[in-house]
Amino acid sequence: MVTDNVDQYSDDELDYVAEEMTEEDMEHSQQDSEGECEDDNEERGSRWKRAHPERWKKNVSKRVRLSLKKPKMSCRDCRFKCRETFSDDDRTLLCQTYHNLEGYNRKKDFLLANIDIHTVKRKRLRYDASYRKNKRDASITYYFNKNGVRTRVCKRFFTSSLAIGHSPITEAIKGRGEAGHFAGIDGRGKHRPANKSEDYQLNIVRKHIDKFPRTLSHFTRKDTKREYLDSSLTIRKMYDLYRTECTTSTPPVKPVSEAVYRNIFGKEYNLSFFKPKKDQ
Ligand SMILES: [Zn+2]
Repeated sequence: MVTDNVDQYSDDELDYVAEEMTEEDMEHSQQDSEGECEDDNEERGSRWKRAHPERWKKNVSKRVRLSLKKPKMSCRDCRFKCRETFSDDDRTLLCQTYHNLEGYNRKKDFLLANIDIHTVKRKRLRYDASYRKNKRDASITYYFNKNGVRTRVCKRFFTSSLAIGHSPITEAIKGRGEAGHFAGIDGRGKHRPANKSEDYQLNIVRKHIDKFPRTLSHFTRKDTKREYLDSSLTIRKMYDLYRTECTTSTPPVKPVSEAVYRNIFGKEYNLSFFKPKKDQ
């Protein structure tokens, strides 16, 4: 299974944000901050850029992957004569339509709109092994629209045209609400990332950053809210101090990664390292 819609931040993603501004950048004076706030950074009082998940490589490639989905091998000589009704172009269109639906629930609604679920078991007994094997599938019938007419197709044609397996259908049926639409929960990718920091760990980071004395520089423009830390400090040094503090505290605390520390520093604070004017 591809778990490609993890919504929560993991360390990797935080790295991406943190990398946008290096320590060296942070140490530059306020002069270069002019014209840098075309985003919403100023509003938040932070120079660091907001994350844009839609631009992350993995999400871009996911969109490309979905737009390239093609129907799989069709049925042959089936009793619904699916291939006579639906051309290859029809199938491609159905496949694209399905995969371009935004969001999990819309896809599930599409599936539910195109299947019928028969709760009454068929009375007619068929003794061939394939019937027994497919007993469960026998209560679902599949349709596609052809010129506005809901037209019965076989299961193979349905799944192969949409280039899906059976599990999306099973999930749709499981989540079916009273009105026949999908009322379930998208359970994919909702696991907590293994490397996600706990809230209490993040609070320790904030407390640590808060401990350093800061000053508002007298030559700061009055519209910036930036505060300055001592010029001898760097984020790396602060992080090292934080790590030491974590390991020597009683009981010891598991430190967050440097990327997470930097991310809090950059996104929640508007801090720079003071450089005396003569050095500039
Ligand atoms: Zn067929």
